[in-house]
Amino acid sequence: MSDSMNYKLFIDGAWRSGGHGADLPLLNPAIEQEFGRVAIASASDLDDALTSAQAGLLQWSNTPAEERGTLLVRAARILAGKIDIAAASLSAEQGKTLAEAKGEYARAVEMLEWNGTHAAKTSAPYSIDEKRIIVPEPIGVVAAFTPWNYPSVLNARKLGASIAAGCSVILKAAEETPSAGVYMIEALEEAGIPPGVVSLVFGHPPMISEHLLASPVVRALSFTGSTPVGKQLAKMAAENLQRCVLELGGHSPVVVFEDADLAKAAWAISEYKFECAGQSCNAPSRILVARSIYREFLSQLVRAAEKIRVGAPDDPETDMGPMANARRIEAMERLTKDAVKRGAKVEIGGERLDRPGFYWAPTILTNVHPDSQVLHEEPFGPILTVAPFDTVEGAIEEANRSEYGLAAYFFTGSPAIQEKMIRSLTAGAVSMNHLKGVSADAPNAGVKQSGYGYEGGLEGVRAFQNLKLVNGVKAVSVA
Ligand code: NAD
Repeated sequence: MSDSMNYKLFIDGAWRSGGHGADLPLLNPAIEQEFGRVAIASASDLDDALTSAQAGLLQWSNTPAEERGTLLVRAARILAGKIDIAAASLSAEQGKTLAEAKGEYARAVEMLEWNGTHAAKTSAPYSIDEKRIIVPEPIGVVAAFTPWNYPSVLNARKLGASIAAGCSVILKAAEETPSAGVYMIEALEEAGIPPGVVSLVFGHPPMISEHLLASPVVRALSFTGSTPVGKQLAKMAAENLQRCVLELGGHSPVVVFEDADLAKAAWAISEYKFECAGQSCNAPSRILVARSIYREFLSQLVRAAEKIRVGAPDDPETDMGPMANARRIEAMERLTKDAVKRGAKVEIGGERLDRPGFYWAPTILTNVHPDSQVLHEEPFGPILTVAPFDTVEGAIEEANRSEYGLAAYFFTGSPAIQEKMIRSLTAGAVSMNHLKGVSADAPNAGVKQSGYGYEGGLEGVRAFQNLKLVNGVKAVSVA
């Protein structure tokens, strides 16, 4: 077990302090004060995790898929029973409001539950024809790296799918939000997961990923984070031909056509954008508006953003808490300054709040020059840019201009334009007349610089399976 605010590693079925000898500070972003410590894994801790993961794999891959699923569902229920306490820790570490943290945990429970409920089906052999079958087999030991923005959901997404598939997993959770990893592992432990099937490590991210990926024992890696780090990991994985699932962020456009319900679109954009202080890979960031309604829509969007109450994450009146760390504040300052220097107008916000904590005001920029950093770099914060467009083709070209391709949204009632937008937007997910993120039951992956490899649904489990072709077998019972 981990003492409260003193987070340990979980290796070979036991909690331990890191062999490194030192630990990392845990900071509350709302008050900029340290309130805990996080263990640092040493090379020998990682070797132990690799050895125990191999032993765990042997046992888990030979455990019937139904049993694996039952355990995941049990773990989901245990986690569901701890949502209040777990969400309070997450909110204090990350800065998201208590309501957001509870909502995130509810989604994490759903992810574990979905993977558990469907484990028998996703691992079942299936026929190609009367003489050939496919037998899904666990890919092996998985190294999973999760970030600090939605740590509970992302831990559940990676652990749920790989454990359902029969793999063992070494999870390096984000050092800035360790409790999400700890609550997840404790739920699995309480549900009866055998030693070695899951390990939890923290420490120095590059050292941990280099060490784990250098081992041929690891057969797959799943990473959510920035594009530059994702590329580094993919290069390392190439050496041992480890399969990669890379979810690397986005820069999502929203296209608002003149027939759209403007109030609904403005409200939906504002609500989704400022959740988690904009630190979501699916958050909208570039708003493109038909010129005929541009002024009217902009004023509605500004009014919606003005209503966002920024404050302490544990205050029930708060809509948006602080950013997760000082790095994000520095990025907001840099992106805003650069845009303004190139001629952008700050319609609202544009500055850090004058109070302790990493608070950045909801920000809307217009007249943003195409070369501005904010249009090219994932903003990952509460900054929206708004620009007019003249034609459907022009809107599509602008929406697809970003190197990212994770999510895209549009608002229109016209069937012809809807059909065209669905076909033309270069994104892993397209949402029409509303904004929606990932779910447990549907595959999702970015395109272009947003990464590759599916998470969610059957395809999310397939990412951690080898599909063995068996010739000469007549039939197979499908669960
Ligand atoms: P970062 O890229 O350094 O870190 C992101 C996450 O990756 C962290 O959890 C970190 O621990 C981990 N990480 C970093 N280097 C690693 C390595 N060599 N091996 C394994 N894990 C590693 O950046 P950051 O300052 O934490 O966030 C900055 C940017 O990252 C954001 O602007 C955003 O673009 C991106 N990001 C994306 C997501 C997402 O959901 N796709 C989540 C968090 C951060």
